[in-house]
Amino acid sequence: MVNIREIVTRFAPSPSGPMHVGHLLAAMHARRLADVSGGRCMLRIEDIDQRSCSPHWVKLMYEDLAWLGLHFDGEVMVQSRRYPIYEATLNQLRKLGVLYPCFCTRGEIKAQIAEMGRAPHASLGFLYPGTCRHLSPEQIEEKMAAGVPHAWRINMQRVQDMIGCPSWEDLRRGVQRCVPTLYGDVVLARKDMPTSYHLSVVVDDAAQEISLVSRGEDLFDATHIHRALQGVLGLPVPRYYHHTLLRDNAGKRLAKRDGARSLASLRESGYTPTMIRESLLEALSNGGIWRI
Ligand code: GLU
Repeated sequence: MVNIREIVTRFAPSPSGPMHVGHLLAAMHARRLADVSGGRCMLRIEDIDQRSCSPHWVKLMYEDLAWLGLHFDGEVMVQSRRYPIYEATLNQLRKLGVLYPCFCTRGEIKAQIAEMGRAPHASLGFLYPGTCRHLSPEQIEEKMAAGVPHAWRINMQRVQDMIGCPSWEDLRRGVQRCVPTLYGDVVLARKDMPTSYHLSVVVDDAAQEISLVSRGEDLFDATHIHRALQGVLGLPVPRYYHHTLLRDNAGKRLAKRDGARSLASLRESGYTPTMIRESLLEALSNGGIWRI
Protein backbone atom coordinates (compact mmCIF):
# COMPACT_ATOMS: atom_id res chain seq x y z
CA MET A 1 0.00 0.00 0.00
CA VAL A 2 1.21 3.51 -0.81
CA ASN A 3 1.91 5.70 2.17
CA ILE A 4 0.09 8.84 1.11
CA ARG A 5 1.79 10.96 3.75
CA GLU A 6 4.96 10.68 1.78
CA ILE A 7 3.66 12.26 -1.43
CA VAL A 8 6.07 14.85 -2.81
CA THR A 9 5.18 16.57 -6.08
CA ARG A 10 6.87 19.37 -7.97
CA PHE A 11 6.27 22.30 -10.28
CA ALA A 12 9.17 22.64 -12.71
CA PRO A 13 8.79 25.62 -15.04
CA SER A 14 11.37 26.74 -17.61
CA PRO A 15 11.62 30.53 -17.28
CA SER A 16 11.98 31.31 -20.99
CA GLY A 17 9.05 33.69 -21.23
CA PRO A 18 6.09 35.03 -19.29
CA MET A 19 4.11 32.62 -17.13
CA HIS A 20 1.14 31.34 -18.98
CA VAL A 21 -2.19 29.85 -17.87
CA GLY A 22 -0.76 26.46 -18.89
CA HIS A 23 1.98 26.90 -16.26
CA LEU A 24 -0.65 27.79 -13.71
CA LEU A 25 -2.57 24.63 -14.53
CA ALA A 26 0.58 22.52 -14.02
CA ALA A 27 1.31 24.31 -10.74
CA MET A 28 -2.26 23.85 -9.50
CA HIS A 29 -2.24 20.13 -10.30
CA ALA A 30 1.04 19.61 -8.47
CA ARG A 31 -0.06 21.70 -5.47
CA ARG A 32 -3.45 19.96 -5.25
CA LEU A 33 -1.98 16.45 -5.49
CA ALA A 34 0.33 17.29 -2.59
CA ASP A 35 -2.38 19.03 -0.54
CA VAL A 36 -4.98 16.24 -0.72
CA SER A 37 -2.48 13.90 0.90
CA GLY A 38 -0.86 16.34 3.31
CA GLY A 39 2.29 16.04 1.21
CA ARG A 40 4.80 18.57 -0.11
CA CYS A 41 5.04 20.38 -3.43
CA MET A 42 8.52 21.52 -4.43
CA LEU A 43 9.56 24.21 -6.91
CA ARG A 44 12.33 23.67 -9.44
CA ILE A 45 13.54 26.25 -11.94
CA GLU A 46 14.49 24.39 -15.13
CA ASP A 47 16.88 26.93 -16.61
CA ILE A 48 19.62 24.77 -18.10
CA ASP A 49 19.20 26.59 -21.41
CA GLN A 50 20.82 29.85 -20.46
CA ARG A 51 20.24 31.33 -23.91
CA SER A 52 16.46 31.25 -23.58
CA CYS A 53 16.02 31.47 -19.79
CA SER A 54 16.78 34.63 -17.88
CA PRO A 55 16.63 36.07 -14.33
CA HIS A 56 14.12 38.58 -15.69
CA TRP A 57 11.58 35.79 -16.38
CA VAL A 58 12.36 34.14 -13.04
CA LYS A 59 11.61 37.42 -11.24
CA LEU A 60 8.30 37.83 -13.09
CA MET A 61 7.43 34.22 -12.36
CA TYR A 62 7.86 34.78 -8.62
CA GLU A 63 5.64 37.87 -8.87
CA ASP A 64 2.94 35.89 -10.70
CA LEU A 65 3.12 33.05 -8.18
CA ALA A 66 2.84 35.46 -5.24
CA TRP A 67 -0.07 37.29 -6.88
CA LEU A 68 -1.86 33.97 -7.36
CA GLY A 69 -1.15 32.94 -3.78
CA LEU A 70 0.66 29.79 -4.86
CA HIS A 71 3.37 28.65 -2.50
CA PHE A 72 5.83 25.76 -2.50
CA ASP A 73 7.60 23.77 0.18
CA GLY A 74 11.25 23.44 1.06
CA GLU A 75 14.15 24.90 -0.84
CA VAL A 76 13.84 25.97 -4.47
CA MET A 77 16.08 23.97 -6.78
CA VAL A 78 17.77 25.91 -9.61
CA GLN A 79 19.15 23.71 -12.38
CA SER A 80 21.69 26.20 -13.68
CA ARG A 81 23.54 25.83 -10.34
CA ARG A 82 23.82 22.07 -10.73
CA TYR A 83 26.00 21.49 -13.80
CA PRO A 84 28.72 19.64 -11.79
CA ILE A 85 26.09 17.17 -10.57
CA TYR A 86 24.90 16.48 -14.13
CA GLU A 87 28.54 16.10 -15.22
CA ALA A 88 29.10 13.49 -12.47
CA THR A 89 26.02 11.55 -13.65
CA LEU A 90 27.33 11.61 -17.21
CA ASN A 91 30.58 10.14 -15.93
CA GLN A 92 28.67 7.43 -14.13
CA LEU A 93 26.90 6.57 -17.42
CA ARG A 94 30.21 6.64 -19.32
CA LYS A 95 31.63 4.13 -16.85
CA LEU A 96 28.60 1.92 -17.46
CA GLY A 97 29.47 2.02 -21.18
CA VAL A 98 26.14 3.44 -22.32
CA LEU A 99 27.24 6.90 -23.57
CA TYR A 100 28.87 7.81 -26.85
CA PRO A 101 29.84 11.12 -28.45
CA CYS A 102 27.79 12.20 -31.45
CA PHE A 103 29.38 14.56 -33.96
CA CYS A 104 26.43 14.75 -36.36
CA THR A 105 24.89 18.11 -37.22
CA ARG A 106 21.10 18.49 -37.42
CA GLY A 107 21.39 18.71 -41.22
CA GLU A 108 23.37 15.46 -41.39
CA ILE A 109 20.85 13.66 -39.20
CA LYS A 110 17.97 14.84 -41.41
CA ALA A 111 19.84 13.68 -44.54
CA GLN A 112 20.58 10.26 -42.95
CA ILE A 113 16.94 9.83 -42.02
CA ALA A 114 15.78 10.85 -45.52
CA GLU A 115 18.22 8.34 -47.04
CA MET A 116 16.85 5.58 -44.86
CA GLY A 117 13.29 6.56 -45.82
CA ARG A 118 12.30 6.68 -42.17
CA ALA A 119 9.67 9.12 -40.96
CA PRO A 120 10.75 11.43 -38.14
CA HIS A 121 9.00 10.77 -34.87
CA ALA A 122 6.42 13.44 -34.20
CA SER A 123 6.31 13.96 -30.44
CA LEU A 124 9.97 13.76 -29.46
CA GLY A 125 11.67 15.07 -32.59
CA PHE A 126 13.84 13.03 -34.90
CA LEU A 127 14.66 9.44 -34.18
CA TYR A 128 18.46 9.39 -34.39
CA PRO A 129 19.62 6.67 -36.83
CA GLY A 130 22.60 5.75 -34.62
CA THR A 131 25.38 6.81 -37.00
CA CYS A 132 27.99 7.74 -34.36
CA ARG A 133 27.24 4.63 -32.30
CA HIS A 134 29.41 2.75 -34.80
CA LEU A 135 32.51 4.99 -34.69
CA SER A 136 35.73 3.26 -33.71
CA PRO A 137 37.81 4.56 -30.75
CA GLU A 138 40.34 5.89 -33.30
CA GLN A 139 37.69 7.79 -35.24
CA ILE A 140 36.37 9.28 -32.01
CA GLU A 141 39.85 10.29 -30.92
CA GLU A 142 40.56 11.91 -34.28
CA LYS A 143 37.36 13.98 -34.21
CA MET A 144 37.88 14.98 -30.59
CA ALA A 145 41.48 16.04 -31.34
CA ALA A 146 40.22 18.11 -34.28
CA GLY A 147 37.78 19.83 -31.94
CA VAL A 148 34.62 18.74 -33.78
CA PRO A 149 31.66 19.81 -31.59
CA HIS A 150 29.85 16.85 -30.09
CA ALA A 151 26.86 15.92 -28.01
CA TRP A 152 26.62 12.78 -25.83
CA ARG A 153 23.96 10.22 -26.65
CA ILE A 154 22.78 7.20 -24.72
CA ASN A 155 22.91 3.78 -26.35
CA MET A 156 19.37 2.67 -25.56
CA GLN A 157 19.80 -0.82 -26.98
CA ARG A 158 22.55 -1.39 -24.43
CA VAL A 159 20.32 0.07 -21.71
CA GLN A 160 17.49 -2.25 -22.73
CA ASP A 161 19.89 -5.22 -22.64
CA MET A 162 20.84 -4.19 -19.09
CA ILE A 163 17.45 -3.36 -17.57
CA GLY A 164 14.86 -4.87 -19.93
CA CYS A 165 11.46 -3.12 -20.08
CA PRO A 166 10.62 -1.97 -16.53
CA SER A 167 7.24 -0.58 -15.61
CA TRP A 168 6.03 2.68 -14.12
CA GLU A 169 2.72 3.63 -12.62
CA ASP A 170 0.75 6.36 -14.29
CA LEU A 171 -2.16 7.59 -12.17
CA ARG A 172 -4.36 8.34 -15.19
CA ARG A 173 -3.33 5.58 -17.60
CA GLY A 174 -2.44 2.72 -15.27
CA VAL A 175 0.72 0.64 -15.20
CA GLN A 176 2.95 1.35 -18.21
CA ARG A 177 5.77 -0.65 -19.66
CA CYS A 178 8.86 1.37 -20.55
CA VAL A 179 10.53 0.50 -23.83
CA PRO A 180 13.98 2.14 -23.60
CA THR A 181 14.66 1.94 -27.36
CA LEU A 182 11.34 3.53 -28.38
CA TYR A 183 12.70 7.01 -29.01
CA GLY A 184 16.20 6.04 -30.02
CA ASP A 185 19.54 7.22 -28.65
CA VAL A 186 18.47 10.58 -27.25
CA VAL A 187 20.95 13.34 -26.39
CA LEU A 188 21.90 13.52 -22.70
CA ALA A 189 24.44 16.33 -23.01
CA ARG A 190 23.92 18.88 -25.71
CA LYS A 191 26.74 20.34 -27.80
CA ASP A 192 26.30 23.69 -26.07
CA MET A 193 25.75 22.52 -22.47
CA PRO A 194 26.85 19.65 -20.24
CA THR A 195 23.32 18.31 -19.78
CA SER A 196 19.87 18.06 -21.35
CA TYR A 197 16.26 18.17 -20.20
CA HIS A 198 16.08 14.35 -19.91
CA LEU A 199 19.23 14.00 -17.82
CA SER A 200 18.53 16.93 -15.48
CA VAL A 201 14.90 16.08 -14.87
CA VAL A 202 15.71 12.51 -13.82
CA VAL A 203 18.64 13.50 -11.60
CA ASP A 204 16.64 16.28 -9.96
CA ASP A 205 13.41 14.37 -9.42
CA ALA A 206 15.54 11.91 -7.45
CA ALA A 207 17.48 14.66 -5.63
CA GLN A 208 14.25 16.38 -4.53
CA GLU A 209 12.80 12.99 -3.55
CA ILE A 210 9.79 13.50 -5.79
CA SER A 211 7.40 10.59 -5.32
CA LEU A 212 4.73 11.78 -7.76
CA VAL A 213 5.71 13.59 -10.96
CA SER A 214 2.78 15.70 -12.10
CA ARG A 215 3.13 17.31 -15.54
CA GLY A 216 1.34 17.82 -18.87
CA GLU A 217 0.42 14.90 -21.08
CA ASP A 218 2.71 16.28 -23.80
CA LEU A 219 5.54 14.79 -21.71
CA PHE A 220 4.04 11.31 -21.47
CA ASP A 221 6.33 9.88 -24.20
CA ALA A 222 9.41 11.30 -22.47
CA THR A 223 8.61 9.15 -19.44
CA HIS A 224 9.88 6.10 -21.37
CA ILE A 225 13.28 7.80 -21.50
CA HIS A 226 13.14 8.93 -17.87
CA ARG A 227 12.19 5.48 -16.60
CA ALA A 228 15.04 3.96 -18.61
CA LEU A 229 17.50 6.43 -17.07
CA GLN A 230 16.20 5.71 -13.57
CA GLY A 231 16.71 2.01 -14.27
CA VAL A 232 20.28 2.30 -15.47
CA LEU A 233 21.28 4.81 -12.75
CA GLY A 234 19.58 2.82 -9.97
CA LEU A 235 17.37 5.77 -8.95
CA PRO A 236 14.02 5.52 -7.17
CA VAL A 237 11.01 5.44 -9.49
CA PRO A 238 8.29 8.01 -8.80
CA ARG A 239 4.69 7.60 -9.86
CA TYR A 240 3.46 9.84 -12.69
CA TYR A 241 0.38 11.91 -13.36
CA HIS A 242 0.15 13.37 -16.88
CA HIS A 243 -2.64 15.96 -16.84
CA THR A 244 -4.65 17.15 -19.85
CA LEU A 245 -3.60 20.42 -21.48
CA LEU A 246 -5.59 23.58 -22.06
CA ARG A 247 -7.15 24.19 -25.47
CA ASP A 248 -8.78 27.18 -27.12
CA ASN A 249 -12.38 27.22 -28.38
CA ALA A 250 -11.27 25.64 -31.66
CA GLY A 251 -9.68 22.78 -29.73
CA LYS A 252 -6.12 23.93 -30.47
CA ARG A 253 -3.56 23.54 -27.70
CA LEU A 254 -2.72 26.84 -26.00
CA ALA A 255 0.89 27.67 -26.74
CA LYS A 256 3.44 29.72 -24.82
CA ARG A 257 3.65 32.18 -27.69
CA ASP A 258 -0.01 33.04 -27.03
CA GLY A 259 0.94 36.26 -25.20
CA ALA A 260 -2.71 37.07 -24.55
CA ARG A 261 -2.91 34.23 -22.02
CA SER A 262 0.12 35.27 -20.02
CA LEU A 263 -0.78 35.85 -16.38
CA ALA A 264 0.72 39.33 -16.52
CA SER A 265 -1.58 40.35 -19.37
CA LEU A 266 -4.63 38.85 -17.65
CA ARG A 267 -3.73 40.76 -14.49
CA GLU A 268 -3.38 43.98 -16.50
CA SER A 269 -6.78 43.35 -18.08
CA GLY A 270 -8.35 43.30 -14.60
CA TYR A 271 -8.72 39.58 -13.94
CA THR A 272 -8.27 38.60 -10.29
CA PRO A 273 -6.55 35.39 -9.11
CA THR A 274 -9.97 34.02 -8.12
CA MET A 275 -11.38 34.64 -11.60
CA ILE A 276 -8.39 32.92 -13.18
CA ARG A 277 -8.58 29.94 -10.84
CA GLU A 278 -12.32 29.62 -11.52
CA SER A 279 -11.72 29.71 -15.27
CA LEU A 280 -9.16 26.96 -14.85
CA LEU A 281 -11.55 24.83 -12.84
CA GLU A 282 -14.22 25.41 -15.49
CA ALA A 283 -11.73 24.42 -18.19
CA LEU A 284 -10.97 21.23 -16.33
CA SER A 285 -14.62 20.22 -16.21
CA ASN A 286 -14.88 21.17 -19.85
CA GLY A 287 -12.33 18.96 -21.57
CA GLY A 288 -9.64 21.64 -21.11
CA ILE A 289 -11.31 24.44 -23.10
CA TRP A 290 -10.02 27.79 -21.83
CA ARG A 291 -12.45 30.64 -22.46
CA ILE A 292 -10.75 33.87 -21.27
N1 GLU B 1 10.37 22.39 -17.58
C1 GLU B 1 9.33 21.75 -18.33
C2 GLU B 1 8.38 22.79 -18.87
O1 GLU B 1 8.35 23.93 -18.40
C3 GLU B 1 8.56 20.75 -17.50
C4 GLU B 1 9.32 19.50 -17.31
C5 GLU B 1 8.65 18.44 -16.46
O2 GLU B 1 7.66 18.71 -15.80
O3 GLU B 1 9.17 17.32 -16.46
O4 GLU B 1 7.65 22.48 -19.80
